[in-house]
Parts: sequence; C-alpha cells; structure tokens
Amino acid sequence: MTTKQVNKRLSKKVQSIQPSGIRRFFDLASSMDNIISLGVGEPDFVTPWNVREASISSMERGFTAYSANAGIIELREAISNYMTSRFSVDYDPESEILVTVGASEAIDVGMRAIVDEGDEVIVVEPSFVSYAPLVSMAGGVPVAVGTNIDTDFKVTAAQIEAAITDRTKAMMLCFPNNPTGSTMNQEELKEIAELAERHDLLVFSDEIYAELTYDEEHVAFSSLEGMKERTVIISGFSKAFAMTGWRLGFVCAPKDLLSAMLKIHQYSLMCAPTMAQYGALEALKTGMDDVYRMKQSYKQRRNYFVKSFSEIGLECHTPGGAFYAFPSIEKTGLTSEQFAEKLLLEERVAVVPGHVFGEGGEGHIRCSYATSMENLELSVERIGRFLKQF
Ligand code: PMP
Repeated sequence: MTTKQVNKRLSKKVQSIQPSGIRRFFDLASSMDNIISLGVGEPDFVTPWNVREASISSMERGFTAYSANAGIIELREAISNYMTSRFSVDYDPESEILVTVGASEAIDVGMRAIVDEGDEVIVVEPSFVSYAPLVSMAGGVPVAVGTNIDTDFKVTAAQIEAAITDRTKAMMLCFPNNPTGSTMNQEELKEIAELAERHDLLVFSDEIYAELTYDEEHVAFSSLEGMKERTVIISGFSKAFAMTGWRLGFVCAPKDLLSAMLKIHQYSLMCAPTMAQYGALEALKTGMDDVYRMKQSYKQRRNYFVKSFSEIGLECHTPGGAFYAFPSIEKTGLTSEQFAEKLLLEERVAVVPGHVFGEGGEGHIRCSYATSMENLELSVERIGRFLKQF
C-alpha cells in the first residue's frame, strides 16, 4: 500500500484486501447486451415450491420474531439427522450446530473464533474468493497452497506439509471445489487427516457442494477417524437446494469451537432470518428428491460441457462435483484476465478469470454450467470460434 492510497478513515486491514475479482468482471458484462453468462456461481433453478410455501406459511402463522441465536431447534435437529443419515457423523443439535447467514458467515465467524494476530491459516487454492480475505480480516495470515490440473486440482498431504510453520493454526479445504469442481475420495482425505493429527491442526472443510457429486459419494471430513474433534464443517442451503437468496448456512463443530462462533454470531448477527429457517427445515424434511433431480440435470450438463470443451481444443479435467468447469487456456498465450476480457468483448461470453481464485488459478477460466443447455451450446459455439485465432 503506498502512502498516497491510505485513507485514514478506514482500517489498514480493510484497505489491505481487494474487492472480489468476480464482481468487477460482472459489472463490465452487465453493461453489455446479448451476453451468455457462465460466470455466476449459483443454481439456475428456483427454490422448490414446497420450501417457499413453508416459509410463507411461517410468516402467515406470525413467526416473524428473532429465533434462538443458534437457530430454531427443529432446524438444528433436522441438520443433525441429515449429517448422520447422509455422512455418518453425529452432531448434537444443542451444542455442536449453528445456523448462520449463509456459509459465508460461517467462514467469517469460524476464522474470527480461532485466529490470533499473526496466526497462519493454510488455504488450499484455487479456492472460493472469501477465504483469504476473511483470514486477513480476522488478523491472521493466509498461506496459499496451490493445486494444479496435473493432479486434477486435488491437494496432497506433502503439499500442505511444506507450508506448515509453528504459526500454522488451521487449514481450509473445499471439496467439491469452487472453482475447479475437483473432489477428493476417502483415501486421499485420510492422508490429510493424518497430517492434521500429526501437526495438531484444525481443519475447516467447506462442504457446501457435498450433495453435488457426480461420480463418487461425498465423504465428510469429520467422518474420518479422529477428525470430528478437529474439524469445522461449513455448509448450507444455497447450492444443493437452490436457495442462494435465502442466506442460510450452517456449521457443525466441536462444542468449544461452536460456542466461540456462537458468541460472535450472537453479537454480530443475532440470528439467521427466522422465515428462511422454516423454509430450510422443509427442505431437509422433504426436499431430497428435488436435490437429486437438480443434481441429475447438472450431471447431464457437465458431461456435455466437458466433452464439448475437448472437441474445441480446450484442455479440461472432468470435474467430479459442484457446477463448474475449469479449463486451461494456457496455450492461447493470454493471461486468464486477458482471455476473459477478449472473449467477452469479441464473443459476448462471460467467464471468470482463474487468477481471482488464487494460486494455481492463472492459466484457467471458470465456466459455470448452471445455465440452460441452449446457453451452453451457444457458448461452446462462440468459444470454439474465438479459439480459432490462436
Ligand atoms: N463456499 C463456497 C465454496 C461457495 O462457492 C460459496 C458460494 N459461491 C459459499 C461458500 C457461500 O455460500 P452462501 O451462499 O451459503 O453464503
């Protein structure tokens, strides 16, 4: 930061972080016509009707006040049952589950609960854009560990171990991953679990895409032997249930960590929106068929997209989960920012340049396939034409 840029009214911390690179790009795209957007990280489905109806009904019944700070107990019980039935890991609804304002808040309160000034948190990248800034805002130091296409963007224990110092407090993982769509299986995760044990590290595992895996069943990190006591599971309703606008997430964590997060949540947010919590309760009770239906649709689109990318000469690993493809654009000789901007201006397709997701992201673009087949077909046609100039 140069002296000239310092604004004395603002904290040094907030001035040291950059606004999200995703938004900047989409402001440009939104000023143009006839754009096909592969940029947005959210489902293209509307929240299933029964979920909307349950929320409306909660308002009709007058449930418009604050809820318990940790969330309505019925929802915490439903989350507890869900974690047991889907991922074979038990959480006490009274002391180990917190309902948050999106997974976003969960990451924030999680970091603020564990980080002291100067503590290091290893962030496996490319990753969702909020991790490193939220570590910094909590006073910590994010330490990037990059993954790459050669290993399908999976991370190894050796890569993480090389970044551990005596200030390392935790690591932040996200599988299925945003932006790469990469997943990790039980054996691969076990290696990381052993490392966490050996170095006595906490593990933040962002599993918001857990329901959206297409080739293998998701494994919750805390279900691995000995891991529940050192794992914070971050999850929520945005992706699997198509509920991004509801702002509802949750954390499952050991009691001491959970009560520390609850303390911060209590003072900063009070509680998640009550009417949204009633919708989420319905989603967990009766919504799994809808989750499955949406997942099948994403899978079909993934298969089409990855096959088409290889036909037009874009190198792309097969993403096992989420709804993103992360092809390499290296052979064009452009940076990911140049590629995304040129593609937008020449062919009106909006993608996200990979570098905004951190280490290992440069040389790639993130393309969300959570859009109509018609849009996907058109975008493949346009990107194919665009690539012919290189
Ligand atoms: N984690 C990941 C990996 C995400 O992709 C997102 C949303 N793009 C979030 C967390 C935040 O989700 P929420 O809407 O629940 O805040």
